[in-house]
Amino acid sequence: MKKNKNPLRLNIGYFYNKSIGTSREVPIDIEHITLDDISARNLKSLVKISRTREGLLLQVSAKAEIQSSCVRCLEQFFLPVNIEFEELYQFPSRYREETDMIVPEDGYIDLRPLYREYLILAMPIRSLCRPGCKGLCSICGANLNETNCEHQQEDVLQKEEDINEDTA
Ligand SMILES: [Zn+2]
Ligand SMILES: [Zn+2]
Repeated sequence: MKKNKNPLRLNIGYFYNKSIGTSREVPIDIEHITLDDISARNLKSLVKISRTREGLLLQVSAKAEIQSSCVRCLEQFFLPVNIEFEELYQFPSRYREETDMIVPEDGYIDLRPLYREYLILAMPIRSLCRPGCKGLCSICGANLNETNCEHQQEDVLQKEEDINEDTA
């Protein structure tokens, strides 16, 4: 059942009894992953786990390509993003704030919610499939990156007129 395995669920249990300052780097390489509403491919990541006095510090860097749709031409494409974040998981016995993350008792940390959150933050609100995407023809809907339709000349002129009116 390889398909159901969650590659972002890390075994950190063996770190509990390590001495302070011990660290280890865990490489992650995922061909394709779905995190709720986002779908990504070629997720390559390095997770550095360090034992601190308070708990375990995870320092994550990753790059991935997120499936997106272009706001201009509506084509699906994969948007490359880079993320970096760190998170301190505290040992449950210590004094802590309510918002603190706690080292889970079963020894496993599921990083999916964190990756999802940071990948979404790394995406622009309006993503374009390429710089200067030409979008769709407003009359016939042709994808102007791929083809030139008969309406283009008029369309450009119309836009120029609009601009002139606005600035007049
Ligand atoms: Zn586009
Ligand atoms: Zn057209």
